[in-house]
Amino acid sequence: MGSGVGGKTFWVVGLARSGCAAGRLLRRHGAVVIGIDDAEDAAVRRRWESEGLTDLAPEAFDEIHAGGGWPMPAPHAVVISPGVRPDHPRLRSLDPGLEVIGELELAARFCRARLVAITGTNGKSTTTEWTARLLEGAGLRAEAVGNLGRPLALVADELGPADVAVVEVSSFQLETTRLFAPEVGAVLNLAPDHLDRYPDLAAYYAAKRILPGLIPGTGSFVAWTGCPEALSWPTRGRRMSFGDRDQGADAYLSEGKMRCRWRGEEISLVPVGDLSLQSPPNLLNAQAAVAIGLGLGIEPERLAPGLRDYRGLAHRHQPVGALDGVEFIDDSKATNVHAVCAGLRGYPRPVVLIAGGSGKGEDFSALAEVMQSVVHVVLIGEEGPRIGEALEGVVPLSRAGTLEEAVGLAAGIARGRERAVVLLSPACASFDMFANYRARGAAFASAARSLGAVMIE
Ligand code: ADP
Repeated sequence: MGSGVGGKTFWVVGLARSGCAAGRLLRRHGAVVIGIDDAEDAAVRRRWESEGLTDLAPEAFDEIHAGGGWPMPAPHAVVISPGVRPDHPRLRSLDPGLEVIGELELAARFCRARLVAITGTNGKSTTTEWTARLLEGAGLRAEAVGNLGRPLALVADELGPADVAVVEVSSFQLETTRLFAPEVGAVLNLAPDHLDRYPDLAAYYAAKRILPGLIPGTGSFVAWTGCPEALSWPTRGRRMSFGDRDQGADAYLSEGKMRCRWRGEEISLVPVGDLSLQSPPNLLNAQAAVAIGLGLGIEPERLAPGLRDYRGLAHRHQPVGALDGVEFIDDSKATNVHAVCAGLRGYPRPVVLIAGGSGKGEDFSALAEVMQSVVHVVLIGEEGPRIGEALEGVVPLSRAGTLEEAVGLAAGIARGRERAVVLLSPACASFDMFANYRARGAAFASAARSLGAVMIE
């Protein structure tokens, strides 16, 4: 596609962040862009306002059709946003010969940079950012983009061939790729999620499985040794892994150091104590980032600086404040059981956990296996009762009507216990009570502030 779009008409369906970025990219290259959204015009404009898109949107579209009215005649091609299902009835009714692609696929066609794609159930955003920081530390220009809130289409045509776009890719985006061919692709882990959108777990994993199949023979596929399913997925790329040294991993921890295998030699990068993030899931994410860097052919020593410097993302085990020796930790992004379990396993301090929210069809029973450090659970939201059933008899439980009330209760329970933390790690989506996980995290911090906590700004 690239430069061949001049004068052609495109529909962009889904007018949020990705749709606006896709529209602007197309228009910059001379295409005529018609934006389409099922929501009413006023709702679309409110979305632009709340997501900071009011500057971008006017540059993105020649025409807008909001509220379900689809225009005529059919365009040259259709670009859909990750939030739009490829089986949308209006899309199904189009001529089957008409090209329907995702924003990621479109952006990749304009992008001359080297591409890295990262997917998995948890750790995508953190690993995407950390990989970009590792590459910057190695002296490259690298951009962390994709599902984490900055679409590839925003920067696709600004990057040069020596630069790297590190793209967080969701299962939904993988379903709308065709020619997208990342030089390195990684599947970090697999666990139940999004069962509200997929008929079953096999269908969700099948979407993730698309990634290794997109990697060319000159590229590399990175998987975790703890995830035998992904390790076995077909790919033309070179197979690389992170995790267990004895299973031949390329990046791993051993004898207190982050190490890697490089040209037949074992190389020490940094002591584990020097890594900037040290929770068990983050140690895995760091190994994944190193393996990806090696997959791009970067010498190990050049990857070390970024391992020490990266500070992590908000709402992922982020300390936000403290009161009377109790620390408040925001893990609002833990929207599934796997993320909560990974964060709690072996937790070194007493935890008062706040969990619950809106459900995605998950089974909560695995939570009962990671309650060793948890002294009490305060339940909130629609799924509170179901989580309560899973934890009944395992750990003391309370219920709260609001997050603010939950924080007050949890702080009271934690007070007086040495090194205790109040941890928001909900195992659920936020949509029953909040606009998104960020708003939920912000409400958690503001509740802690109202109790008098000293906040980390
Ligand atoms: P994603 O983009 O895949 O949602 P994030 O980096 O935003 O991943 O983290 C989401 C949640 O998963 C957070 O609660 C975080 O603490 C947890 N997490 C991060 N890395 C991992 C991992 N490797 N395994 C399991 N959970 C993880």
